[in-house]
Amino acid sequence: MHAHSTYSADGDSPLYDMIVAARDKGLRYFGISEHFDYDYPPAGLKYADGSPAHTDEEAYFAHARLLQKEFGDDNFELLVGAEFGYTDDSSAQARYASVIGRYSPDFIINSVHTCDGADCWFGEYFGGKDKNYAYARYLQRVLQSLSTPYNYDIVGHIGYVSRNAPYSEPKLNYADFAPLYDEILTGIIERGKILEVNSSARGAGSGFLPDCDVLQRYFALGGRKISFGSDAHNTSRICDKRAEVVSALKSIGFTCITVPCRGKQIEVPL
Ligand SMILES: [Zn+2]
Ligand SMILES: [Zn+2]
Repeated sequence: MHAHSTYSADGDSPLYDMIVAARDKGLRYFGISEHFDYDYPPAGLKYADGSPAHTDEEAYFAHARLLQKEFGDDNFELLVGAEFGYTDDSSAQARYASVIGRYSPDFIINSVHTCDGADCWFGEYFGGKDKNYAYARYLQRVLQSLSTPYNYDIVGHIGYVSRNAPYSEPKLNYADFAPLYDEILTGIIERGKILEVNSSARGAGSGFLPDCDVLQRYFALGGRKISFGSDAHNTSRICDKRAEVVSALKSIGFTCITVPCRGKQIEVPL
C-alpha cells in the first residue's frame, strides 16, 4: 500500500511496470501512492537532475484509473492513492483538499517528511540539533499531522527521521519518547486510522519502521489496524521484507492487514 512510480520525482520504474510486477508477485491488492509534496515550500522545486519535484496530478490520476480498469479482476486490484507530505501551512492543506475533491484517491497516506523547514532525510535538518531534540521535534510534528484538516487513511513511516540520521545509534526507540509516542498511537486509534509498517528502513537501525517496540505498544493500547508498505520506488523492491514484517506482526498478536479503499477498510488475514 505504499509505492512510487516515475510519476513521483524519485521513482525509477514506470507505473505500468510497477503494476505488472505487483500482479506477477501474486498480490491481491497493490496500492500506488505517488508523492504530493506540497510541504515543499519553493514553488516549482526541482531535484538535482532537473526533474520537477511535484507529481503531475492530472496525468497520474488519468493514467492510473485507466490501468486500474485494465488490470482489475477477481484476483488483483490496483488502488490509486497518494502520499501527502504533511505541513501546517494552510494554503498547502487547501491544495491537498482540492486534490481529494478533484480526483478522489482510493486511499491517502499522511506522512511527515519535513519539520522545522527542512526534509528530515537531509543533513540540513540535523544541523545544530542533538539526537533527542531532532527526534522529539519530528515526533511532535507527527502528532500534529494527525489533526490535519483533510481526510486520510494511513499514518506513514513513523521513524522517517531515523532513516538517514547521522547518529551512531539511530533507532528511534519507544522507551526514549514514551509519552509522546503514546499520544501519537492513541491518536491513531481514536481516529480509526491505520498505522503503516514500512519496510524501507534504510539506516534506521531496524528492519522496518516503526520497529517492534512501537508496534507492541500500539497493540497493547488497542491498536489493530496495520498497513504494509515497502515504499518501493522500483519494481524490484515491491513487497520487500513482507515475510519478515508478517512474522513480526503475528508474534505480537496482529491477525490481519487493513487495506483502505474508497472509505472502506478491508481486513486481509495475515
Ligand atoms: Zn514518505
Ligand atoms: Zn513514499
